[in-house]
Amino acid sequence: MRIDIMTLFPEMVENFLSESIIGRSRNAGKLDIRTVNIRDFSEDKHHRVDDTPYGGGRGMLMAPDPIYNCYRHLVGESESKPYVVYMSPKGRTFNQSIAKSYSSMDWLVLLCGHYEGIDQRVIDEIVDEELSVGDYVLTGGELPACIVADAVGRLCDGVLALPECHEIESFEGGMLEYPQYTRPPVWHGREVPEVLLSGHHANIDEWRKNQSLEITKEKRPDLLRNIKNDEGT
Ligand code: SAM
Repeated sequence: MRIDIMTLFPEMVENFLSESIIGRSRNAGKLDIRTVNIRDFSEDKHHRVDDTPYGGGRGMLMAPDPIYNCYRHLVGESESKPYVVYMSPKGRTFNQSIAKSYSSMDWLVLLCGHYEGIDQRVIDEIVDEELSVGDYVLTGGELPACIVADAVGRLCDGVLALPECHEIESFEGGMLEYPQYTRPPVWHGREVPEVLLSGHHANIDEWRKNQSLEITKEKRPDLLRNIKNDEGT
């Protein structure tokens, strides 16, 4: 899949997405993530991209033209149209099931706002969906875009060495993951649960299922209610 990130701060995004699993997958050609600088598409002689809001009020807004020009450049002569997501605190809240649905798309564009946000008309013109990473306000959409690119990217084919990794992770099947342990068997007086040392796979599976259920009940009972609601529908 291809992900384009439209931003005024491509270095911020590149720094994060050049490291670790996502960085290696990009280098190996398994993930096509590109950044594009909206400022390069300003027609203003000083490359300005912001202006004061009509009606008064504090702060500056990103003007529609540089964003639209940047989008037109991306789409170019292409036959297909990307799914355009504006990172915004007003959007629906990002979660694993949204990450999954995005990971099956061919082409995703993540638009990062800055300052007080973006002129509404360009949102109405090019954006398919607004997406939030939580109920708080950040200075820009770059961190949110990195979160989405990371969560979506690791679900793409060939990115994780063991594809089954994400099949047993938190939120799969609506539950949180069971606790995990590695060597040594005793650390600071704390022992690894005996069943995990037993080599008895059926018992280990059973223990893990029970732990997942207990942890989800304790930490995120809302997830269990969602499973019940889904089963009821
Ligand atoms: N004035 C806007 C409001 O009250 O909704 C907030 C603008 S915020 C300071 C600047 C940019 O950061 C936004 O345009 C958006 O791209 C990004 N942003 C901030 N918080 C976000 C969040 N929780 N989720 C996704 N993007 C966010």
